[in-house]
Amino acid sequence: MYKKLVVPSMLLAAFGIAPKQFLLAVAKKCMPSTSTVISNKAGSESAKRPCVVQKNEKTVGSLKSKSEPTKNGSDIPQFAPGLPRWPTDNRAFFDDKPLADYIQPTQSGRLASGLWGCTRNQGKKFHAGVDIKSLYRDRRYVPQDRIFAALPGKVAYINTNPKNSVYGNYVVLEHFEPNLRFYTLYAHLASVEPTLKVGQSVAQSALLGVMGCTGNVPGLYYAHVHFEVGFSVGTEQTFTRWYNMQQEKPKDPNAHGQWHAFNLVSLDPLEFFRAKSNFTHFLKAQPIAFTLFVATNKIPDFMAQNTALGMLPSEKFYGWRIDFTWFGAVVHFEPLLQPQKEKWQVVSFDKRELEKNGNRHTLEFDKNNRPFLGETLERYLFELFGEAF
Ligand SMILES: [Zn+2]
Repeated sequence: MYKKLVVPSMLLAAFGIAPKQFLLAVAKKCMPSTSTVISNKAGSESAKRPCVVQKNEKTVGSLKSKSEPTKNGSDIPQFAPGLPRWPTDNRAFFDDKPLADYIQPTQSGRLASGLWGCTRNQGKKFHAGVDIKSLYRDRRYVPQDRIFAALPGKVAYINTNPKNSVYGNYVVLEHFEPNLRFYTLYAHLASVEPTLKVGQSVAQSALLGVMGCTGNVPGLYYAHVHFEVGFSVGTEQTFTRWYNMQQEKPKDPNAHGQWHAFNLVSLDPLEFFRAKSNFTHFLKAQPIAFTLFVATNKIPDFMAQNTALGMLPSEKFYGWRIDFTWFGAVVHFEPLLQPQKEKWQVVSFDKRELEKNGNRHTLEFDKNNRPFLGETLERYLFELFGEAF
């Protein structure tokens, strides 16, 4: 036994490999692999080597691992009752612990890569959520962390076909504040709580599933829950029209309705926790990066459902004035009562805010410094209004 332990570590040392690295490499290599993952081009994260958690008898009902503390009301990881809770049992964020205690980085090892924003590929790639690490693993290194509803709401969508999304198995909850609705999303789950049904109301801390590495997570070692908070931009109808326009034949139909990653705009979840407010206040406090006039006679569902952010026309109107954040979230809107000459027009912009736009492609500028609609902004406008700008 002694020899067996000593020889490998000497060998490893000879090759300059730390025993921990070796163990991780073995853990990754031992993962069962699947042949392909069908990318639905939905990703804010690129498709990489997939991981599959074996169908495991240890699912929701039998998850009491020895290391897992029992939680009661006062132990819930949140700043105060009524505010959003952390989607796992990890208290580190609320105890002001270092990022490494709660963030799962990508293979780059950079902790920032697990945060929301233009945090990947030297700031060129946008990550729509926050990647929360596993606290509890079993002997085979399979995460045992349970995933909970951050806020009370309604189950809007469940995907249990992990191969048809970069998000793998995922759950979307919709939350309702006066005249405003928003979502939270929980991705890469190993399994979804089997009793959960679309349309069902859930309380805060309702069990949604178990952490995993389904979708575009490169391996068991990188298991995490990708947590998002934001809006669905278009309806299923407007989004599917946009989606079908992008598809090359043969068509791969949109499997996720309005809850497809490309129809969502997300805000920084950690900032939402830090705001210690409801979502409406948090959103209204976002800096405005640019304001557009768009000429259209449509009233999108987004406007009709979110009048906390603006007003609906009570007379003939010709379009909308819309304030956007640098990443494309609508902060405010109001109808335009004068005819518009142009299909769209930039009313104002804040260059400093837009500089945060690593590769987000919202409002962009050509080499003559003339603004144009970047691809993300074009997409959002199409999803909102069901027409091209
Ligand atoms: Zn993520």
